[in-house]
Amino acid sequence: MFTLKESKNGHFSFLRSGGMNKMTYVRIGGLNDLSFVDGKGICYSIFFQGCKKRCDGCHNPEFQPFEGGLKYTIHEVMKPIIDKRYWYESVAFIGGEPLDQPKALLKLLQKVKELGLQRWLYTGYEAEEIPKEIYDLCSVIIAGEYIKELSTNGFPASSNQKVLYLEEGEKNCPIT
Ligand code: SF4
Repeated sequence: MFTLKESKNGHFSFLRSGGMNKMTYVRIGGLNDLSFVDGKGICYSIFFQGCKKRCDGCHNPEFQPFEGGLKYTIHEVMKPIIDKRYWYESVAFIGGEPLDQPKALLKLLQKVKELGLQRWLYTGYEAEEIPKEIYDLCSVIIAGEYIKELSTNGFPASSNQKVLYLEEGEKNCPIT
């Protein structure tokens, strides 16, 4: 059974009642259905809520606390992407820290890959720390903590971060 609940910030979420369920949930701080800067072409950006890194100068400090944002099922996150699939070339997983919710991230990456869209992962972890099953599902990974003193005011946000293009031809991606 589902009930629709409105949160303080006006977002709606579906709540389940009764019985056990093994749904995977993801805590999301924000969604941008029209980004031109987070991925290739028109990009749907998913801002995960919660990050352990706490980098000095973080651009999205509101996404650091794990108790913020709203809880969604994978289906709820995917539905607007599926409905407007032909608008998009890519989906960005950004935050906050997507890798701090690895089970949900993995499921979303799988679903987005099934749609044939690129998957861009922004993480404060180093590339070597990313679980292989997640790494293998990404098209592009921007890896490493943000270091204010190394800020580029561009892409990537600080010069220590590594940009890994994991699909053929992506070195010519216009975002760079
Ligand atoms: S890893 Fe990213 S989201 Fe987390 S604190 Fe650092 S800059 Fe902010």
